[in-house]
Amino acid sequence: MIHASLVCRGCFGTLYAVTTICAPAARLPTWEVDHDHTPTSCPLRPLLPLQGVAAHVYELPEATRVLSEPA
Ligand SMILES: [Zn+2]
Repeated sequence: MIHASLVCRGCFGTLYAVTTICAPAARLPTWEVDHDHTPTSCPLRPLLPLQGVAAHVYELPEATRVLSEPA
């Protein structure tokens, strides 16, 4: 499942987010968020790809640092 329209706070580039369910028993999806295209320079590059288990992409630990607020 791919979620569009996420924007990087560091470089204002487009981010993609993919969710996967690792185990049938897993209640929450595993997220992976990264730049659509690797930016030449982005201050948040060390934080990406952002990965973690959460109900929503904005609930990932570093989400507020990486993601712009939804429009
Ligand atoms: Zn960026």
